[in-house]
Amino acid sequence: MSKKPDYLTLCSIAAQKAGTSYGKYMAMHGYHPPIHADTDGVGAPQGIVKICPQCGKEFTQGKIKQKIYCSLECQKAHAQRAAKRRYRDRKNKELEVHG
Ligand SMILES: [Zn+2]
Repeated sequence: MSKKPDYLTLCSIAAQKAGTSYGKYMAMHGYHPPIHADTDGVGAPQGIVKICPQCGKEFTQGKIKQKIYCSLECQKAHAQRAAKRRYRDRKNKELEVHG
């Protein structure tokens, strides 16, 4: 049997890494933090913590330096909003021309 730390130990380690207390960390994740037993490779800098301009959520930039949004959904939502705005601007211009 290998000596693996149990789930609660991993949770407290994760809480420490997140810079918060164990209780807060657990509450934050609904008392079921997504903990992976394999701690190999952990400890290396994970990237820069950024705040998503779309939803205001904190996320880690990670390997993708150009990452601006926390998720693809936020990126899409923002792109859609920008596209809509462009479409409206174009429509307004067309109205000006033909009106
Ligand atoms: Zn977001």
